[in-house]
Amino acid sequence: MPAPHEMTRTKTLEPGAEEWSCTRCSRRLLLRRPPAFEKIVLDRGDEWAMHVGGTDGLQPGPVQGRPTAPGDLPAQERNWLAEHGIEWKPGSA
Ligand SMILES: [Zn+2]
Repeated sequence: MPAPHEMTRTKTLEPGAEEWSCTRCSRRLLLRRPPAFEKIVLDRGDEWAMHVGGTDGLQPGPVQGRPTAPGDLPAQERNWLAEHGIEWKPGSA
């Protein structure tokens, strides 16, 4: 399995709206925090890579090339969700 790409927050555009970019490819996202949660892909970058710290972890179900059982979320992604005010509840989906 290739190493996941790491998304980092690069800009805060306005309160609650942030730009995130990948440290390894050109992927960039515009992220609006809950309750008005929104994800806008500015640049797809390497779509086949797994991106951690980004918003892909918010989507239930299999991630590209990486089937994930409900409740099986890497600690890194759970921490990221927690930082964004989202509590991960395994099995509640
Ligand atoms: Zn990437």
